[in-house]
Amino acid sequence: MSFNVTADPNHVLDTLYAGTDFSSLNWAEQKWVAWYVWWGNPIIATGMISFLMHEVVYFGRSLPWIIIDAIPYFQKWKLQPNKVPTPQEQWDCTKQVLWAHLTVELPAIWLFYPMSEMVGMKTYQVPFPSLSTMTWQIAFFMFFEDLFHWAAHRALHTPLLYKHIHKIHHKYSAPFGLAAEYAHPAEVMILGMGTLGGSLFLCLFTEVHFISFFIWVIIKLFQAIDAHSGYDFPWSLQHILPFWSGAEHHDFHHMAFTNNYSTSFRWWDRIFGTDDKYLVYRERVKAAKAKSSNNEEFMKAEQALMDEVLAEGLREESAVEERLKKKSKVQ
Ligand SMILES: [Zn+2]
Ligand SMILES: [Zn+2]
Repeated sequence: MSFNVTADPNHVLDTLYAGTDFSSLNWAEQKWVAWYVWWGNPIIATGMISFLMHEVVYFGRSLPWIIIDAIPYFQKWKLQPNKVPTPQEQWDCTKQVLWAHLTVELPAIWLFYPMSEMVGMKTYQVPFPSLSTMTWQIAFFMFFEDLFHWAAHRALHTPLLYKHIHKIHHKYSAPFGLAAEYAHPAEVMILGMGTLGGSLFLCLFTEVHFISFFIWVIIKLFQAIDAHSGYDFPWSLQHILPFWSGAEHHDFHHMAFTNNYSTSFRWWDRIFGTDDKYLVYRERVKAAKAKSSNNEEFMKAEQALMDEVLAEGLREESAVEERLKKKSKVQ
């Protein structure tokens, strides 16, 4: 079967959608068909919608955090209040991320189609799966990604991988929304396999439509950007779902350089004990709060604890690099 962008829409309709009852499709499904017919080539259509969604969601979701950073009123909810990113830092980060999107992710997106074809994922086909099918499949993608990320992220903290790959992401000890994808291209690829892997794996057992993966990626982008936002509001999700990681969990990872390796959920770090320092820190903050007679005193005590964690993190970071130097000298 051959497709091209300038294909006659009627020909594309016949080729891709022969025998489809269009009157039974809902609004979203009709738009989906229109998109694929307009491009006339499912590889380009799938690649373009993936890239556009990624850009719109990534920068669209980062924008409210940029605005929040510019308004001092919100600083009371900033996890590391003395480290609000400057507009220059945000702009530098934006340029880097955009460059990576264009040079690494855009070409990589085109690899997705042959991979999805290989495992039989549906892309241009309609109708979409039912809401209940999409829901459980997305829940599975999320579970898979969280576990994969926990393991891969731990591996990225081993001396060799840290020095050559993961160190870039740790440039910011106090992250902000835009910094979610500020990482080495190899890291984007490795951790991206967690986002993608669940859907490819599931295709081996049941029918999966690209739309479920598409919605999952939107959720994943919100999760990653919000986890890097640097803010913990009383209404943040982790206060409603205690097993949700959120910014409070991941901010500690950037500050302490250790612990809290997972993305969406807290359970793997709890089960494998990779949140020991984080739990001690939380207890110390709680004790400082109980001891302080006013908010100002507490803020001071909390800042001292944060400085301690950060200093220990920096020591830990140089120790990892030292270990690598020693190893390469021995060899
Ligand atoms: Zn890390
Ligand atoms: Zn991070």
